[in-house]
Amino acid sequence: MADPVTNVETSSARQDGTDDVIQVKDLHVHFHTALGVVRALNGVSFNIPRGKVLGVVGESGSGKSITGLSIMQLVPPPGRMESGEILYKEKPDTAKPLNILSLGRHSDEMRAIRGDDISMIFQEPMTSLNPVFSVGHQIREAIMLHQNPNEDEARAQSVDILQKVGMPNPQRIARSYPHELSGGMRQRAMIAMALSCTPALLVADEPTTALDVTTEAQILELMRDLQNDIGTSIMFITHNMGVVAQMCDEVAVMYLGRIVERATVDDIFYDPKHPYTISLLRSIPRLGTNRGQKLETIKGGVPDPYTTVTGCPFHPRCPSFMPGLCDTVLPVETIIEGKDHHTVRCHLYPGSTPEQVADGDGRVTGTSGTAPNTGRAN
Ligand code: SF4
Repeated sequence: MADPVTNVETSSARQDGTDDVIQVKDLHVHFHTALGVVRALNGVSFNIPRGKVLGVVGESGSGKSITGLSIMQLVPPPGRMESGEILYKEKPDTAKPLNILSLGRHSDEMRAIRGDDISMIFQEPMTSLNPVFSVGHQIREAIMLHQNPNEDEARAQSVDILQKVGMPNPQRIARSYPHELSGGMRQRAMIAMALSCTPALLVADEPTTALDVTTEAQILELMRDLQNDIGTSIMFITHNMGVVAQMCDEVAVMYLGRIVERATVDDIFYDPKHPYTISLLRSIPRLGTNRGQKLETIKGGVPDPYTTVTGCPFHPRCPSFMPGLCDTVLPVETIIEGKDHHTVRCHLYPGSTPEQVADGDGRVTGTSGTAPNTGRAN
């Protein structure tokens, strides 16, 4: 079935035989505030293949974190999920995926999914860790809530998982309180808690941003090892392209609540298509840059969240802006010719310009264009 705001087909199974642990379809999340409506997500659609790592990148305000929180049904008020689907498939042979948005935010089913099936780790570990309980106690609680072992088994498992995340002397760490640990150790403890129930999907929101580079490298290696061992899929939210190169299989680039480009990590770095992706990559410091040479910056800033940009949301900052087209017509997602796994939303590419002109909000209500139909889930 074609997504209403893209030219790309969506399906529950990909044609290359892999299956998706999660599919997000045309998700709209708005914040209704006294100053107006902030459209945080404007039709976000993507999938995460089982066992793979999807990097989600973009500047602050692009909607990365809200996308992660939506999957957990943890969007804070006054945010509201207006429409869309989040389809979760626990195992490859699960007959019918579960639409997470059909579950109540505080329902028992949703509570069971959080932690057991889908876990989330944050930039600040104290978001997850309770300061008044020991680390071991908190991991045991998570294990007992979701797996139902006896107290002794849960205790042994909690020490085991602390060892797996590279904690020296895990018995002692299990007895420690979060404030007794360093930042890197707290981060490991949070990862241990998130992974203690072997989730099918881990949503990691800037998990290493607050750490020094050595600890960051250790944590990233640890997550990659655990992902290989357990087979957990990861949605890795970051603004750090270096981390993306190290961690991810595929990358989704977000701008103003939309995914503007999606490709394998190699294509994003070596053959980026969207002017925003190209600008993001040019703003990274590189080895070999001459001393004194200024880094390129992206012109302008992210627009005020209360304003609605007509046409392509990136047009006020785009070096390839085409007047009369980019500022009036919202490009739809299209597949780059010859690359099934590379999609882009930009009028520079065939199939991205719909036949119908956008409405007053810059949204295309019909579908058209000439993008090839590959059956790939977007
Ligand atoms: Fe730039 Fe136009 Fe492409 Fe938007 S659609 S990224 S403004 S060229």
